[in-house]
Amino acid sequence: MNIILFGPPGSGKGTLSSRLNEVGFFSISTGDILRQEVANKTDLGLKIADIMNRGDLVSDEIMINLIANQIEDKSKNYLLDGFPRNISQALELEKYFNVDKVVNLDVDKDVLFKRIIGRRVCQECKKNFNIYFYPPTKENRCDGCSSPIITRKDDNEASLSTRLEKYYEKSEKVIEYYQKQNKLFKIDGSKDPKEIFDTVKKKLNF
Ligand code: AMP
Repeated sequence: MNIILFGPPGSGKGTLSSRLNEVGFFSISTGDILRQEVANKTDLGLKIADIMNRGDLVSDEIMINLIANQIEDKSKNYLLDGFPRNISQALELEKYFNVDKVVNLDVDKDVLFKRIIGRRVCQECKKNFNIYFYPPTKENRCDGCSSPIITRKDDNEASLSTRLEKYYEKSEKVIEYYQKQNKLFKIDGSKDPKEIFDTVKKKLNF
C-alpha cells in the first residue's frame, strides 16, 4: 500500500511518518532529502538553498526527477511526505506510482505557527521537539540520541508566511483531485500524535 501524507507545514506529517515507519512503511520526505543535499553542498543543494530558506517551492522538474529515483522498488509500502505539493506533481506521479490513500492533516493556522516557530529537530536522528509543547528533557539535546537539536533554517516567521501562502495557493486542487478518486481522508491534525496514528491505522485497516 502506498500513502501520501498531505498537509501544511507544521501539520504533523513528520511525526506521523515516523510512527508509520515503525509499522513497515518506507517513508520518503522530500524536504529531508533536499535539506541533506543542501548540507552536503551538492550541485543541487547549492542551487536550491536560497529557495528553501525563503520558503519557496523547488521546481517541479527537479522534484519529479528526485522522487522518481526514490520509488523504484515496487515491493515496498511507500509513504510520501511532502510530495506532491501541487497538481502538476500529482499528475506526474500518477504515471509511475500507484497512490492508494491520501491522509490530509488539517490544522488551524495559529496552531501551525506555534508548532513551526517552536520546532527543534535533532541533527542526527531527526526526532522533532517543540519548545512550547514537548521540550527535550535536557536543553538543546535530543532525548533519543543526545545529539544537538537545532532550528530548521526555514522555520522563521518570514519563511513560514511564504510556505503557508504557497500551501494554501496550491493545496486545493490536489485535495480535490484525490477526493474525486475517493482516496483522501481528512484527519484533525491538532489531536495528540498517538490518537492521530490510531485513527490512521483504523482508516487504513492495519
Ligand atoms: P518540508 O520539509 O516538506 O516542509 O519541505 C521543506 C522545503 O523543501 C519546502 O519549503 C520547499 O522549499 C522544498 N520542497 C519539499 N518538497 C517539495 C515539493 N514536493 N515541491 C517543491 N518544493 C519542495
